[in-house]
Amino acid sequence: MDILLQEVGYSYAKDTPFEKRALTDVSLHIPSGSYTAIIGHTGSGKSTVLQHLNALLKPTEGSVMIGERKIEAEVKAKNLRDVRRQVGIVFQFPEQQLFDETVLKDIMFGPLNYGVPEEEASRRAHELVEQLGLPPEVLTKSPFDLSGGQMRRVAIAGVLAMEPDVLVLDEPTAGLDPRGRREIMDLFHRLHIEKGLTTVLVTHSMEDAARYADNVAIMHNGRCVVTGEPVEIFSNEEQLRDYRLEPPRTIRLQQKLEDKMGIKLDSISLTEEA
Ligand code: ADP
Repeated sequence: MDILLQEVGYSYAKDTPFEKRALTDVSLHIPSGSYTAIIGHTGSGKSTVLQHLNALLKPTEGSVMIGERKIEAEVKAKNLRDVRRQVGIVFQFPEQQLFDETVLKDIMFGPLNYGVPEEEASRRAHELVEQLGLPPEVLTKSPFDLSGGQMRRVAIAGVLAMEPDVLVLDEPTAGLDPRGRREIMDLFHRLHIEKGLTTVLVTHSMEDAARYADNVAIMHNGRCVVTGEPVEIFSNEEQLRDYRLEPPRTIRLQQKLEDKMGIKLDSISLTEEA
């Protein structure tokens, strides 16, 4: 399912003395089946864009096409329910939203709420726990008795249990150690490859964007200033610095190597750990 932002403008607290413009004229295409990274300095508008991807926020100007549905300032509430199922968002620290008495109930909550039969919701929960590398015993435990990393996986399973067409990740590795980060990011990459799941990653990590995405958008001062393939975007150091972004370590290493050896390297694999 494609998502298309067309000349989107957004102001918080519109028509009040606290009005704050967050987005101006943002046009962005998230093609079906892509892995799109949205990068940009703090305050550049990434979270505001993210909340437009499943109509948590409605544009004050322009429109957002989510599949066949057009989201504008005046859209009807009925249209939003389907959109919320089709686009799943894993927010930062998603484990903070766990609440049910067992992991099984927690994962089943969303699907049941959307009318999925109990048997099917339970089947999804069992399958996801396995896919996310959790032992089956966790299903009967309280989510609050799990480790931090396990809690995060359970919360992610809750989003995936809705079988979204698009998965949106908001800094999904915040607070994890390097190993946990890598495991979670590899997991999302596997889902993207194996299920063809359209994935949108909002991140501070240039490394993650370079490693996993096939489409990158740079936000700056509330505008989407550049979109393109990671190789183009991350090899243009000057442009990155204009937008106050640090080139990924792999690129910096290549530069150092080239300076030292006095030659130009054709390319360096962005998929290998530097
Ligand atoms: P990012 O995710 O890139 O850090 P945001 O989308 O959070 O950027 O913020 C974009 C702009 O909107 C910033 O100037 C920020 O201060 C402002 N902003 C974000 N959330 C709110 C809010 N709830 N109320 C008012 N202004 C906000």
